[in-house]
Amino acid sequence: MEAQNDKKTNRTEISELGEFGIIDRLTKNFELRHASSLKGVGDDCAVIATGKGKAMLISTDLLIEGIHFDLSYHPLKHLGYKAVVASISDLYAMNARPSQITVSIAVSNRFSAEALDELYDGIWHACDYYEVDLIGGDTSASEKGLLISVTAIGEASQKQIVYRNGAKAGDQIIVSGDLGAAYLGLQLLEREKQIFLENPEVQPDLEQETYILRRQLKPEARKEIIDILGELKIKPHSMIDVSDGLSSDILQICTASGMGCRLQESGIPIAKETFERAVKFQIPPLTAALSGGEDYEILFTLSAQDTEKIIKNPLFSVIGEITAQKEGYNLISNSGQVHQLIAQGWNHLNPS
Ligand code: ADP
Ligand code: MG
Repeated sequence: MEAQNDKKTNRTEISELGEFGIIDRLTKNFELRHASSLKGVGDDCAVIATGKGKAMLISTDLLIEGIHFDLSYHPLKHLGYKAVVASISDLYAMNARPSQITVSIAVSNRFSAEALDELYDGIWHACDYYEVDLIGGDTSASEKGLLISVTAIGEASQKQIVYRNGAKAGDQIIVSGDLGAAYLGLQLLEREKQIFLENPEVQPDLEQETYILRRQLKPEARKEIIDILGELKIKPHSMIDVSDGLSSDILQICTASGMGCRLQESGIPIAKETFERAVKFQIPPLTAALSGGEDYEILFTLSAQDTEKIIKNPLFSVIGEITAQKEGYNLISNSGQVHQLIAQGWNHLNPS
């Protein structure tokens, strides 16, 4: 095997640094020059002051064929929808609403205009459902495959915006919906693809598993949470969307806030269908919930008092507590064992 870090050529493999390591390395020398740049790199969105206590929020996401999606099982229409969802989810993750998107694509000549019509039909439906305007983008040829980049823009009052870095010791950790379904949907699609490649006569019967497939192929962003929080007059101390996996995303909150955490396995919500498919694949359901990505649920931390107000709503689960940093990042299993949490989330730069 080749040495990963060859001193003679001074070459560092990106996979050695990981996604967050490379972002940090590339961006650390950039200072924010403008007072209006309220938040730069390091949260779900950048935040720009626009005057009168208001701010604009911006987030960009990139989807690459062969890395983020496989067109042998991902219909283009769903893919267009998902690209918008992945991008606007970052706005909801800061307690803000998206209002505009730009969409940039690069396409090889393998794609027809009709194929791109399908992609844009999905984008249209997402714009319609989430009430956002498509306001521009860019179009280019690509040598190979399809690339989609969506930038989402929104506006909020500065006071309402929730960052990753505000978690406090004693906060309850809450997550919406359930976790791990998108990951198992992907595992199922991958398995069906392999079966099809080996024997095209075998037709899959996936009707029992529509939930996990939908969570992978046509996910939704949690647009209702900002309204629920608003009605209850609750402002979380910290917030993030679960796009890389629960472990990775709670660690983002903890490191940004200088805190530790104690998750309880018993609190982590896993849908019945997800659980059953995980068991069939001999994947521990908890592993799917902790390390699977693309759930687009919202993870946030609240004072114990506010937690009482929200927990009556079945959409939410209390999954643990924020602790002092020195206590580390822990998960208490159902048998009472303490495990150290590690970020094994989606890492497209190092997908091992
Ligand atoms: P999310 O998962 O919420 O979309 P990411 O993990 O992709 O966020 O990004 C983390 C932070 O790093 C964000 O603030 C993002 O804007 C920033 N970022 C990611 N890639 C780059 C890059 N190549 N150059 C500058 N900033 C980047
Ligand atoms: Mg995010």
